[in-house]
Amino acid sequence: MDIKNFKLTRRQTLKAAGISAVASAAGMTGCSSAPEQVSGPVPINGIMPWSNWSGNQVSYPAERTRPRNIDALAKLLKETDGKIRAVGAGHSFSGLVPTNETLLSMARFRGISHINKETKEVTAGAGTRLAALGDELWENDLGMINMPDINTQALAGAIATSTHGTGQKFGSLSSFVTGLTLVTAAGEVLKCSATENKDVFDAARCNIGSLGIITDITMQMRDSYYLKERSEMLPIDEAFEKMEELRLAKRHFEAFGLPHANHVLLIEFDEISKEESDAKQSEAESGDAYETFRTLADVIDTMPFLRGAVMSIAPRTVGVEEKYGPWNKIFGNVRDMRFNEMEYTVPAEDGLACFREVLETIKKKDIDVIFPIEYRYIKEDDIWLSQFYKRPGAAISVHNFHDKPYMPYFAEMEAIFDRYQGRPHWGKVHNKTEKEFAALYPKWEEFKKLRQRLDPTRRFINEHLENIFPV
Ligand SMILES: Cc1cc2nc3c(=O)[nH]c(=O)nc-3n(C[C@H](O)[C@H](O)[C@H](O)COP(=O)(O)OP(=O)(O)OC[C@H]3O[C@@H](n4cnc5c(N)ncnc54)[C@H](O)[C@@H]3O)c2cc1C
Repeated sequence: MDIKNFKLTRRQTLKAAGISAVASAAGMTGCSSAPEQVSGPVPINGIMPWSNWSGNQVSYPAERTRPRNIDALAKLLKETDGKIRAVGAGHSFSGLVPTNETLLSMARFRGISHINKETKEVTAGAGTRLAALGDELWENDLGMINMPDINTQALAGAIATSTHGTGQKFGSLSSFVTGLTLVTAAGEVLKCSATENKDVFDAARCNIGSLGIITDITMQMRDSYYLKERSEMLPIDEAFEKMEELRLAKRHFEAFGLPHANHVLLIEFDEISKEESDAKQSEAESGDAYETFRTLADVIDTMPFLRGAVMSIAPRTVGVEEKYGPWNKIFGNVRDMRFNEMEYTVPAEDGLACFREVLETIKKKDIDVIFPIEYRYIKEDDIWLSQFYKRPGAAISVHNFHDKPYMPYFAEMEAIFDRYQGRPHWGKVHNKTEKEFAALYPKWEEFKKLRQRLDPTRRFINEHLENIFPV
């Protein structure tokens, strides 16, 4: 072994720093960061509760339905007239899904139904999970252009909120959509694309479940590819100096700012050849930042007075890490620590200033949080309610553990995002109502008119959407 080049993994270095030892000496068991089952709500009057991934949204749907096919769905919509909400994977933190009337799952609309090898467009059922696309795309030498942080969302759920990854050259998943089928409140089936029902297409690619039920989605793919992922923890000033260069130079770039610390984790992705990927895969340092964070969280949860010390010492022990592999193995993290999240997208040119202000405010106000702040870039698009509508964006996400209060912290952060004309992620916690959205989205009135046309009796409006579309 070459001692000079020898580096411990994050887990090992943390152990070396004694942090894990402290943790076990304190007899820690599963606290906030443990991979847990969220203890959920209980049935009321025989009605089973529905709750989202983090457990902050709960409802008691009187009816649950899973149509078999598009005819059954159209018939259901024609022959009933109550409120109805579609659910994908239930991974939204905002109140988009909850209903005490009918909850509709598109779980039977799964899988790839068509691949156009020439144009590299792929059609799949609305309920297909992103992860389920990977292997079949790979077998067909295709790849998704970009991916979000996780891959467990349903396709229609993901595009409903402009779910995105990072990379200034790439838009959100909604921007890769080239066609979709929507069934309206009255059961009318509409095929939509840039050349057919174009207004519905421009609205429905980010629809927050307010226009109708999507049954299938066609997306632009590309040739399959390999990625190298590299992460490095840097002192905060050095990291901020490097970020603009990384934004421009890398296929994907993101950062995680650690609250109460003087360090930022930078993660960059480059496209590489199969040969490089194969050669480097086995020798790559395979530490896991997530595991490191879990350890930190466990220690601080048990001994909160150690927060300052742990957050300033631990990041210094983290070495450079690299991963190599096919696109569908590198994208798609496992997130088994439950949390709640707020995310705002600010104009890309203001991103770093806003990110810095967020980190400084947490320190200055001594906000009780250790969850890293995620920072990403997304290309602009032309989708009416997309956070990236005609504006390249920097998305800043703040989180807290599912069993910790999050509203006071998020409210502090929201005040900062507002000063930068931030647009909230539709699927994450926010406190915005119609008046503010009308000022943030140039196509607001057009979307509303189209919504009223497709859903005149407001079947798709639940309590959360009442604040967004009061009329
Ligand atoms: C751990 C975690 C990581 C995340 N990472 C990211 C990330 O990296 N980037 C990012 O942008 N977001 C991220 N999110 C947010 C998430 O991607 C969005 O909230 C997404 O909308 C959730 O998809 P879903 O399938 O769970 O949809 P749900 O939350 O179930 O539903 C979302 C919306 O879609 C509507 N809908 C669902 N199916 C249909 C249909 N067939 N027709 C019409 N409307 C429908 C619902 O009514 C609702 O309005 C993350 C969330 C979690 C919990």
